Amino acid sequence: MVISPFKKIPKRIIVELTNKCNLRCPACKTWSHMRRPRGFMTNETFTHIIKELKGKVEHLSFDFAGEPMLHPDFFGFVSRAWYGGFKTSVCTNATTLRKIPPWLTTLTVCLDGSTWEAHTMYRRGSDFERVKYNITKMCENKGCTHVRVQCLLTSRSEHQIEDVKRLAFELGADSVVFKRMHTGHGLGTERLLPSDPTMRRKNKWRPICRSGLQTGLIYWDGRLGMCCVDFNNMGSMPNVMGRDIERLYASKDVARRRRRAFFKRYKECKTCELSGAGGLRWLEVRRDK
Ligand code: SF4
Repeated sequence: MVISPFKKIPKRIIVELTNKCNLRCPACKTWSHMRRPRGFMTNETFTHIIKELKGKVEHLSFDFAGEPMLHPDFFGFVSRAWYGGFKTSVCTNATTLRKIPPWLTTLTVCLDGSTWEAHTMYRRGSDFERVKYNITKMCENKGCTHVRVQCLLTSRSEHQIEDVKRLAFELGADSVVFKRMHTGHGLGTERLLPSDPTMRRKNKWRPICRSGLQTGLIYWDGRLGMCCVDFNNMGSMPNVMGRDIERLYASKDVARRRRRAFFKRYKECKTCELSGAGGLRWLEVRRDK
């Protein structure tokens, strides 16, 4: 029997450990446009998710709206996911912790320039020296985790490509990726864009969006989200607590909402900079072995 793609559980699910963050990055919706209550995922919710997704989902990603390392049981949760047989990944602003769980598959750390001025113009509230120190410490004990430095291409960092590469490898990273930034929250972020047009996103209108089919999302309070930019539960998706998550995805109600997102019928889809963005990565370089 052929199962509708709208009823299939995605192979990768983002588990939002928290939607709280300690920084104020200009293009981020977390502090500027989020209407959901703030909180941390409870042990009960996490246990239910792990139990339900085991053997059905390959990859759990512990980052969405907030800074995942702020969660008081960050280490415990990630290690339990590893014991459950999932690949795991985290993206962090590297301001809080200096250690990483040895079971993590991929760690992405944000370093948005090779100088204090370039980095903090975007990562507002961050201490550049401390971030570098934290990355060094994390890399010293990274075990088999792949550590990737991610640099957003801005008007300050666009001239620092070689310096960022050198710095990332000096700090101990395995690779460095330069990412084109989005601007879409109407907070004057256009002025942060690089002057080089090849470093900007080329947004093309597309009639459909596969994002929600490829990656699922569960918010810290257990509700399902639609896609990896759905900050405010635009589809009013249900809560997974007490439910069989695979069956919930297969339900008519959730499939109908996911179909709407696929055809970009939500208000948020009209201004979304993800579905038509093309290549988000401008350049990725790996350390020479
Ligand atoms: S177009 Fe809609 S469904 Fe697709 S990523 Fe954007 S907000 Fe999500």
